[in-house]
Amino acid sequence: MNKEKCRDLKLIPPINEIKAMFFDMDDTIVKYREPVIAGFNSIKESYPELENAIVDDMMKQFRELFSYEAVLNREVSYRKDISIRLSKILNGLGMDADDEKLHFSSVFWRAFWKKRRMVEGARDILQLCRKMKIPVAVITNGNPQIQFRTMIRLKLHDYVDVILTPRTIEEVKPNNFLFEKAMTIFDVEPKGVIMIGDSFSADMVGAMNAGIVPIWLNMSGKDKPEDGDVVEISSLRELVGLIQHGDDNYE
Ligand SMILES: [Mg+2]
Repeated sequence: MNKEKCRDLKLIPPINEIKAMFFDMDDTIVKYREPVIAGFNSIKESYPELENAIVDDMMKQFRELFSYEAVLNREVSYRKDISIRLSKILNGLGMDADDEKLHFSSVFWRAFWKKRRMVEGARDILQLCRKMKIPVAVITNGNPQIQFRTMIRLKLHDYVDVILTPRTIEEVKPNNFLFEKAMTIFDVEPKGVIMIGDSFSADMVGAMNAGIVPIWLNMSGKDKPEDGDVVEISSLRELVGLIQHGDDNYE
């Protein structure tokens, strides 16, 4: 599988013309899928009746059961929402899943936080931004409580100037609300602003909506789902190289 990456390197401004860099959080600068898998594996190992459960199926249901709207409208807290989703999945697998008695949420979270680490190369690119005095915003659709806790645990405040999460369904990426907000905070125009993210539908479409440079972190070699001028990279280390050697891109 040696497919051509879609990349028009001329889209990336020379480093001294980069006005701000925006990053998605989950599976862009901080691992998400791996901690969630660890959480489900840990639940599976803790309860013998789940011996034959398939983690991939649990993950799929976990995604499908999420109601962004209910959480954003504060009909249910993020923590409670996850506990409810886990209960539903475990009940479906034949368990009498009462979280108050069995504490499977705690089992999940313990394993989750152990694996909640930075993505390879994330610290390098963030350090480069610091060195070059490029302002950094994290723009994430993720659960604010988890994201703020992640910031503290991984000491991301050393590198990130602002973290923005949606408060209403209209503010969720790919809508451009949070991108515009970050540009207002940094007092920058779209020209010279870069967005890096792993989700094509949220991060890349969002960046294109906001008129900023979309850089698609495609670590697993997925096919590009739709048209659009994006720069595709397979690791953040690659991005460090591209940005530092920006002048070569123009040869
Ligand atoms: Mg993501």
